[in-house]
Amino acid sequence: MEHVELYEILGVDKNSTDAEIKKNYRKLAKEFHPDKNPEAGDKFKEISFAYEILSDPEKRKIYDRLGLKGLQEGSDGFGDASEFFSHWFPFSGGHNHGGGGAANSRARQAAQVVVKLEVTLEEVYNGNVSKPVEYKRTSYCAACDGEGGPKMTVEQCKACNGTGRTANYSFMGAFVNAFESSCPSCYGRGTTIPEGFRCITCSGSGLVEEEVKHEVPIEKGAPNMLKVLFHSAGNQPLVGERGDLIVVLVQAEHPIFIRRQNDLFLRDIHINITQALCGYVHCFQHLDGRTLCITNKPGDVIKHSELRVVTGEGMPMRNNPFERGDLFVEFNIDFPDDNFATLEQMHLLETLLPPRQPFTMPEDAEEVVMMDVPPYGEGVPGGAHGGMDEDDDDGQPHFESVQCQTG
Ligand SMILES: [Zn+2]
Ligand SMILES: [Zn+2]
Repeated sequence: MEHVELYEILGVDKNSTDAEIKKNYRKLAKEFHPDKNPEAGDKFKEISFAYEILSDPEKRKIYDRLGLKGLQEGSDGFGDASEFFSHWFPFSGGHNHGGGGAANSRARQAAQVVVKLEVTLEEVYNGNVSKPVEYKRTSYCAACDGEGGPKMTVEQCKACNGTGRTANYSFMGAFVNAFESSCPSCYGRGTTIPEGFRCITCSGSGLVEEEVKHEVPIEKGAPNMLKVLFHSAGNQPLVGERGDLIVVLVQAEHPIFIRRQNDLFLRDIHINITQALCGYVHCFQHLDGRTLCITNKPGDVIKHSELRVVTGEGMPMRNNPFERGDLFVEFNIDFPDDNFATLEQMHLLETLLPPRQPFTMPEDAEEVVMMDVPPYGEGVPGGAHGGMDEDDDDGQPHFESVQCQTG
């Protein structure tokens, strides 16, 4: 029994050394990498798969002796073979022993509808609201009861002899993967309607697309990207149960607050140096409509980048709405522009501020000019913030090194 397919994929023969296999793999992986060759995604997968097996002495031995089947049956040293295979063969449903459950959950997933719903921070803060979401889903055609045509004309599908299943083959390049799937002639129904009798509304498919609306309750404190599940509100497949609807609550940006889990941060707070030194009051509207004012008394100095907290004024906790997170304020202190005061005024100012360190210039010192640095991207000749280029290719055939190589 010969198992040359994986070797063929890598362009080597059965007696190749590990080094030869590695060398060819690197060459091919570079050539067919999706970054360079977006059309060649399958080819790249094949190459990676072949290398995954042949670069591992254990797996290579099993493959040489028993072929892919040997690997799939979970021979020693291979861990969970079915998981491994579903990773490489995402569409090989029903191939593995007792894989009915997996095939079933795949079918349910295919019938799932996932929609996004944008929610405001106010809605999540206050809860007790619901919002409608509109989406499209498939349903049985009402005109033909999902049969695709008049019941009396229904005949057994010739392609699958009424089983609704058909043997199928997927071609991963040189090797063939056999699996069962639903019959393409009858979409797994096992029956067909002869042309001329097919339902006009659904063209004989038995399914129509409909637009529906669903009310989604917004839970108090719901986290961003929360998935809300509605059983059996998704697509109706031709065969089997209706799938689920999953609504993902996407939190909209808020002009005043940034949310981090249960805490809130006041966005972009700038105060000037006088406020930082002599006192400051800032009022804003909270998410429930209350007006809150944060104050710091004269003499309580706020430093640049200082973070302060108002406890208990954050978001309500999802499962404990009487508990709340905290509200944080990070201060940016704005300094006055150049020449904001005369020399005399500055002397006066100096009498109020902490004294300067006494200073004497060392004798051999050289005084140099300090200039403003242009913002990043405007380019300092010579590249002060420029490329710290490092050659990080360590010669290992790891995936990253393949991705990084250009030209
Ligand atoms: Zn119909
Ligand atoms: Zn069929």
